Amino acid sequence: PVFVLGSFVVSCSAKVARFPRPGESLAAETVTIEPGGKGLNQAIMARRLGAAVEGLLAVGDDLAAAFAPPALERAGLPQSMLVRLDGATGSGIGFTDAGGETCLAVASGANLALTAAHVRQRTPAIADAALVTAQFEIGDAPIEAAFTLARQAATLTLLNPSPFRPIPAAILALTSILIINETEARGLAAALGREQDEATDPDRFARELGPALLKHGPRLVVLTRGAAGAVAVTADAPAIVQAGFPVEAIDSLGAGDAFATTLGVRLAMGLALPEALRDAAAAGALTTTRHGVFEALPTADAIALMSG
Ligand code: ADP
Repeated sequence: PVFVLGSFVVSCSAKVARFPRPGESLAAETVTIEPGGKGLNQAIMARRLGAAVEGLLAVGDDLAAAFAPPALERAGLPQSMLVRLDGATGSGIGFTDAGGETCLAVASGANLALTAAHVRQRTPAIADAALVTAQFEIGDAPIEAAFTLARQAATLTLLNPSPFRPIPAAILALTSILIINETEARGLAAALGREQDEATDPDRFARELGPALLKHGPRLVVLTRGAAGAVAVTADAPAIVQAGFPVEAIDSLGAGDAFATTLGVRLAMGLALPEALRDAAAAGALTTTRHGVFEALPTADAIALMSG
């Protein structure tokens, strides 16, 4: 099984001709409410790849929490992933204008109330997993606790430090697979006192920032580069460059979650790195071809069709 430790966020987005001005109320074309969050997205992706999924997603005791059980049910995920805490469920509110530009504000709510103790209650599920994945819409303490348990069981761990904050040394040391986009790579380069070019130039990433990050714990570091694909760096082999699959991209939401989860699940299944990267890039590309995330995350069949 795959154990996903992450966030649950209900997002409410309004499609408008233009953004409202301060003090103005505006008629929206549509307003949609969708359950998401990087944790839920990764869990859905892992399930669509055919993996058995367990994990931990926190909700509050408000109305928004009611979106969680049917979302899990619809995705074929176990209700046991949910932990109910006091206070607000993670929620976001955003606008998309006619040009496709978005602005968004998110209150993390219950996601930040997840503790190491909640994680330790799931010790058997973590010990049983082939892969433990986490992202940064939750606090450091539960991630460190989960990765510590994973390490004790020799289980693969995957970290996608998004949205970016500096990665505590203890977490990086317990991370097997680190997946970062250009923004996160720039943040890590700055934290290590290295040049920004090492994050944005794929050759310099492969020669400099990537190997520097490997020294802090991970045995695989992958830089994702949107339509340009990805670069993977390991200690014992030359860097692997994975081209992006050419697609008609309409909405990049969820592409990073699809890529990271697919790479982790495929590696945990025993696939070799080049094949796993190819599947991950196909999953990321396919996710950009549809609006939203729930409907956009691809199935294993769709990935196989594109990846060949
Ligand atoms: P994030 O969403 O975290 O910023 P990226 O935008 O780098 O991550 O996307 C993750 C992966 O998804 C990329 O490495 C690439 O393989 C795939 N991808 C994303 N956008 C596109 C696109 N427009 N065309 C093809 N593949 C894409």
